[in-house]
Amino acid sequence: MNFHLTEEQSMIQKTIREFSHEVVATGAIERDRSGEFPKDIFHQLGELGLMGLPFSEEYGGAGADTISFAIVVEELSKACASTGITYSAHISLGGAPLHMFGTHQQKLDYLVPICSGETLGAFGLTEPGAGSDAGGTATTAEQRKDSFIINGNKCYITNASYSKVVPITAVTGTNTGKKKLVL
Ligand SMILES: Cc1cc2nc3c(=O)[nH]c(=O)nc-3n(C[C@H](O)[C@H](O)[C@H](O)COP(=O)(O)OP(=O)(O)OC[C@H]3O[C@@H](n4cnc5c(N)ncnc54)[C@H](O)[C@@H]3O)c2cc1C
Repeated sequence: MNFHLTEEQSMIQKTIREFSHEVVATGAIERDRSGEFPKDIFHQLGELGLMGLPFSEEYGGAGADTISFAIVVEELSKACASTGITYSAHISLGGAPLHMFGTHQQKLDYLVPICSGETLGAFGLTEPGAGSDAGGTATTAEQRKDSFIINGNKCYITNASYSKVVPITAVTGTNTGKKKLVL
């Protein structure tokens, strides 16, 4: 197996390492103390083209690979672990499900603003009674014509306060074995 970085991966590593050193590390301890969210850092990551790094260029992403994404998480986290997890959740929890399973229109509506950094990505699975056990999901989604009525509670959702749209898991009914159908 070849563990050497490609030219593109090395370039991404150099860019994010410098940015993390100069911008992210500065003020990290103070942000930990104050709880201030670094909106400006994510705005700058958008300008660097990193907010949609592994997603298709068609939707404003950079079309990079998973190793490049891991490099960015690694470098951000070395400077500030909180910034690293925010970025990681933005891509892997918020953007990836849309990228993998969304329709073309859903990608235009929801993935494009994630790639530009206009909104942060998030994903809501955990509930007061459902964490490791997703089958314990109690939130329901009831179809009414062309929309769903959602009823329930979610908690611990990373980036939720900074996301315009949060995909969630919800129960739509039961199958013949009375097993919950979780979407
Ligand atoms: C920083 C942070 C960010 C998070 N971000 C998100 C997010 O963006 N979206 C989201 O949906 N959730 C998020 N979560 C929630 C996280 O996914 C849940 O906390 C996690 O799934 C565990 O669920 P729980 O807290 O209900 O604990 P529980 O599932 O109740 O687990 C409690 C304890 O029991 C153990 N345990 C559970 N099941 C078993 C088993 N079958 N066998 C043996 N031991 C078991 C666990 O290891 C743990 O020690 C976040 C949590 C944190 C801390």
